[in-house]
Amino acid sequence: MPGADTLPLLSLLVPFYNEQAMIGHFFERVIATLERIAGIRFEILCVNDGSQDGTLDGLVAASQRDARVRVIDLTRNFGKEAALTAAIFEARGDLIVPFDADLQDPPEVIAQLVDKWREGYEVVLARRASRAADSLIKRWTALSFYRVHNRIADVSIPENVGDFRLFTRGVADSLKALPESCRFMKGLFAWVGFRTAVVEYRREARTAGTSKFSGWKLWNFALEGITSFSTLPLRVWTYLGVSVAVFALMRALWLVVRTLLYGVDVPGYASLATAILLLGGIQLIGIGVLGEYIGRIYLESKGRPIYLVRRRFERTAPHA
Ligand code: UDP
Ligand code: MG
Repeated sequence: MPGADTLPLLSLLVPFYNEQAMIGHFFERVIATLERIAGIRFEILCVNDGSQDGTLDGLVAASQRDARVRVIDLTRNFGKEAALTAAIFEARGDLIVPFDADLQDPPEVIAQLVDKWREGYEVVLARRASRAADSLIKRWTALSFYRVHNRIADVSIPENVGDFRLFTRGVADSLKALPESCRFMKGLFAWVGFRTAVVEYRREARTAGTSKFSGWKLWNFALEGITSFSTLPLRVWTYLGVSVAVFALMRALWLVVRTLLYGVDVPGYASLATAILLLGGIQLIGIGVLGEYIGRIYLESKGRPIYLVRRRFERTAPHA
């Protein structure tokens, strides 16, 4: 029988932002569940994403009780994508599973993900069979986002798949090699590819605490997703411009012909004003879209780190 040290190590990556209310229940349920999965060792890598409540204390206490729990304390709130990136850089596992602190994704599903991995897949996605736990508006906006994104972006992101998934060390190393500092993880996951399988599961409602994502945050998130993975919004203006120009030219020709045939008349103040306003609006939208991309070039060009770590907490295990 192989020694315990040679078993594959599973890293559970968990971002925590003001999740004080969740911590006790979280470790109880997750550790018990992970211990039941045969043939793996595990570590729980907790990233404290600048919480303002007692989250850090709770995490540090957990890491002192259990050497399999590690804590990375970021210097401020960098956002979930950055926290997840931090965790991917720090993970030591052969298998990696990003996981939300709110237990909306049942940890029991991880066993199924591991089983699929044993069949030879490098990425195992967990797809929500139903979004019944989400509000109607959230469901509808999520659906529209996937539709729009997948129609115009180069890589499709699978619908109803969050960050909850399992992937191998090879995938993690590929993600680490991607240089961009705007981390739209769903898109990056899709971009790296690899042999992929899907497992379906039911998502639950949050048991404590509140969702950290407001409508406005989600809207910006969607914009980031689309602008990170598609240049179609930039190209659209070329075609629109050409169409308007062709239309204007034909209309000019028609006006010349009409003037020659019927002589001059000068109505059309209203149509003139409408045309100017419409075109002015269209131009401003075009400039806005340009600005959106230039803003991203600007952010990337600064080459700032994606996150900063204040401190790492880990109990050096007395060897069993
Ligand atoms: N989270 C984070 N930083 C943030 C916002 C959220 O690390 O700025 C974490 C949060 O603690 C949770 C996960 O990301 O573990 C998902 O957040 P939430 O449940 O609020 O998102 P939702 O499920 O509503 O999409
Ligand atoms: Mg949640």
